[in-house]
Amino acid sequence: MANYKHVLLAVDFSEHGNEVAKKAKEIAERNQAPLSVVHVVDNLPITDAAYGPIPFDVDWTQELLDSAKKHLQKFATELGVPEERQFLEMGSPKLEIVRVAEENNIDLIVVGSHGRHGLALLLGSTANGVLHHAKCDVLAVRLKND
Ligand code: AMP
Repeated sequence: MANYKHVLLAVDFSEHGNEVAKKAKEIAERNQAPLSVVHVVDNLPITDAAYGPIPFDVDWTQELLDSAKKHLQKFATELGVPEERQFLEMGSPKLEIVRVAEENNIDLIVVGSHGRHGLALLLGSTANGVLHHAKCDVLAVRLKND
């Protein structure tokens, strides 16, 4: 089996995230490799003509980023991942996960088979997108809905 040098865990703070995190941590430890964690704040349409006129300008970007940062810090700290290996990005989750992996010489990305949006029997769209775009190995941890 490959000897991984740097493992990246992608987290979406879904219910089963701890199960995926536990596996990623075990693999990193077994390979004596550092573990990094990434969370991507998804691009949201703040206004959309389909929803009709919105009477005021709202930009939730900073609020979302602040809240996501707190979640990521708590999650990563509990996992023993230091701040310099916690990545908070904004944009398309699959593309940002792959970009962070490439920029940090990651050789294994660990994702859940589905997350907050997915269905248990299908591979989620982020997991699928990462598998298609990544140049390194990807482990999709099979999650079942209880
Ligand atoms: P999905 O394909 O969206 O159902 O999610 C599958 C897996 O992709 C999740 O279990 C996470 O490991 C990862 N993932 C999904 N969304 C994000 C996100 N916004 N940031 C980081 N990882 C994510």
